[in-house]
Amino acid sequence: CNLQDHTVKGLSQSKWYGTEASLLKDDADKGFKGHDMLAPFTAGWQATDLNPLVIERSEGSYVYDINGKKYLDSLAGLWCTALGGNEPRLVEAATKQLNTLPFYHSFWNRTTKPSLDLAKELTELFTASKMSKAFFTNSGSDANDTQVKLVWYYNNALGRTDKKKFIARTKSYHGSTLISASLSGLPALHQKFDLPAPFVLHTDCPHYWRYHLPGETEEEFSTRLANNLENLILKEGPETIAAFIAEPVMGAGGVIPPPATYFEKVQAVVKKYDILFIADEVICAFGRLGTMFGSDKYNIKPDLVTVAKALSSAYMPIGAVLVSPQVSDVIHSQSNKLGSFSHGFTYSGHPVACAVALEAIKIYKERNILEQVNKIAPKFQEGLKAFSDSPIIGEIRGTGLILGTEFTDNKSPNDPFPPEWGVGAYFGAQCEKNGMLVRVAGDNIMMSPPFIMTPAEIDEMISIYGKALKATEERVA
Ligand code: PLP
Repeated sequence: CNLQDHTVKGLSQSKWYGTEASLLKDDADKGFKGHDMLAPFTAGWQATDLNPLVIERSEGSYVYDINGKKYLDSLAGLWCTALGGNEPRLVEAATKQLNTLPFYHSFWNRTTKPSLDLAKELTELFTASKMSKAFFTNSGSDANDTQVKLVWYYNNALGRTDKKKFIARTKSYHGSTLISASLSGLPALHQKFDLPAPFVLHTDCPHYWRYHLPGETEEEFSTRLANNLENLILKEGPETIAAFIAEPVMGAGGVIPPPATYFEKVQAVVKKYDILFIADEVICAFGRLGTMFGSDKYNIKPDLVTVAKALSSAYMPIGAVLVSPQVSDVIHSQSNKLGSFSHGFTYSGHPVACAVALEAIKIYKERNILEQVNKIAPKFQEGLKAFSDSPIIGEIRGTGLILGTEFTDNKSPNDPFPPEWGVGAYFGAQCEKNGMLVRVAGDNIMMSPPFIMTPAEIDEMISIYGKALKATEERVA
C-alpha cells in the first residue's frame, strides 16, 4: 500500500499523525488558535495553526459545534454520556439539589442524604460479588488512586507490610493521576512523566488476535496468559503482590474484549495467592456491555470495583469505589484504632453529583436500559463488523455498545501502516467531515455510543463509517 497524498489541506504529515485536534479545517472554529488552555491528551495544542473543535451544545445522540455543525457523538462524550445530551430529568435532579443544598461534605461523620442514598443504591446494584460500602470520588482516576490506598491500608492492618505491589495489564487504561497512570499500561502515559511508580507491574494484554501463537486457540491463549501471570507472581514473591486490576473490556487501549476463559483463569491464579481483584468498571458499568456491570458478563467476582462515567451519565463529575465486606471490615477496625480513616476529598459524595447519579440509576432501571442496549447492540456490532473485509482493516472487535477498529496492512497484526501515513487520523477526520465524532488513537478507532441511540441513528453511524472507510481506502490504495 502507498499513501497517495501526504498532506491534508496544508497540514504536514507530522502534524496530522495522532493528533486529537480537528484535522480538516473547513468546519473548524475560528478565533481559538493558540488558545490558553493546556488541553488534556491533545497533540499540537501549542501549535498556532491548529484550531480546536469547540462543542457548544448537545441533544440526544448529537453534539453541535459553535458554528452549528451537527455530529453524531459515537463515543458518548468520552465513553460516558450514556443517557445522551439533554436528559431533562438529570438537569432537574441537579437543579433541585442545587436549590436545596448545593454543597456539604462527608468528613467527620457529617454527610448528606444523596450520598447515603447513592452508597446504598450502588452496593445493592452490584451483585456479582457482595459489596458493603461505597467511597465517593470525583473521577475514575482518583477512584483508582483510592483503590491503591485502600489496599495498602488493608494489608498494613493485617500486618502484611510487604504485600504492596499491583499487577495491571499492558494497554490498560486506569486514569492519569500519578498512581492511576502508573497502573495504566500505555507507554504515552509513562514517557517523560517518570512513571510507572515502582510498585506497579504489568502483565500481558489479553488481545487474542494480536498476541496469540500460531495454532493457539483462545482458551489456550488464556491459559498461557494465566500461567505468565502466575510466573510473574512467583518471581516477585506472592507475599509482595497486593492486587490485580483489570477492565472487563479494555477501553482506551483499543477496545479489547477478553478471550474465552480468560477471567476464569486469572481469577483462579489471583485467588490462589491471596491477591485482591479490582474490577475497573469505569467504562463497562451501568449497561454498556448489555449487563449492568462487566463483572456480570464475565463472571468476575471482584473484591473492589471502580465506577465513574455513566454513574451520572457524565452530567456531574463523580466516581466511586465499591468495597467488599472482607476489605471494609478490616479498614473499619483499623481506622477505629487510629481514630480516623484519613482519606477523602472535599467533593467526596458531592450532593449534586450524588443526586444526579441517583436519578441516572433510576432512569436506567425504569427504562430497562439493559433491554434497550441489547436491542440496539446487535445492529451496531453486526452493521460495523460487516466492514471487516476491508483490505485496510486488521480487526473490528467489540461487544454490546463498544467497538474498536484497527487499521493494519495485509489483515495482519504484524503489518502496521507507517505511522506518518496517519491512516487512523485520516479516517477520524473523514468521520468528522461527514458529521460523526470517533476516538482516534494511532490506527485504532473507538466507538461507544450513548445507550439511547435509535436504530435510525445506528444506521446513520454505519453509513458515515462506511463513507469514511471508503475515502480512507482510496487514499491508502
Ligand atoms: N478507568 C477506566 C477504565 C477508564 O476508561 C478511565 C477513563 O477513561 C478511567 C479509569 C479514568 O477516569 P477519569 O477520566 O474519570 O479520571
